[in-house]
Order: sequence, then structure tokens, then C-alpha cells
Amino acid sequence: MEIIQRNILIIAVIILIAALLWAAYQYIKFYRTEHLVCPKCGYCWKPPVLKMILSVNAVEGKIIRCPKCGSKEYMEPEKDVK
Ligand SMILES: [Zn+2]
Repeated sequence: MEIIQRNILIIAVIILIAALLWAAYQYIKFYRTEHLVCPKCGYCWKPPVLKMILSVNAVEGKIIRCPKCGSKEYMEPEKDVK
């Protein structure tokens, strides 16, 4: 019984680490190749990491406040133009 509980704990830790790595990978990918576009004023920007983490996730994008027009909008990440 104790061994099973320990295994569950180890599996939980592995899942947690995998989830963190996945999240980190998503953020790195975003900052390297993507940006957010405000649907109201068209402003392109990369939000600070803290703002990204604390903002509400919605489908593919974020519900986040635009620094230019101050409007809280749903923004989808767009590919950077090279
Ligand atoms: Zn805006």
C-alpha cells in the first residue's frame, strides 16, 4: 500500500514537471516567434512575462489589457513578420 502511494506521488511530480516544462516551452516559443495584436487599435506587442502568466487564458489567446488603448480584449498570438 505504501509503495503504491509513493508511486502515485512520483507520477504526480513527473506530471507537474512535464506541465511546467510544457508551459515554459509555450512561453519561449511565443516570445521568440509570436506577438499579440489588439483587435481594437491593431497595436502589436509582447506583454511582460508576469502579465502573460497572470492573464486569463482563453482558447489559443489571452484576455489581456492593451497598453496602448487600455481596452481589455481577447488577443490571439500572431506570427512575427520576419
Ligand atoms: Zn489596443
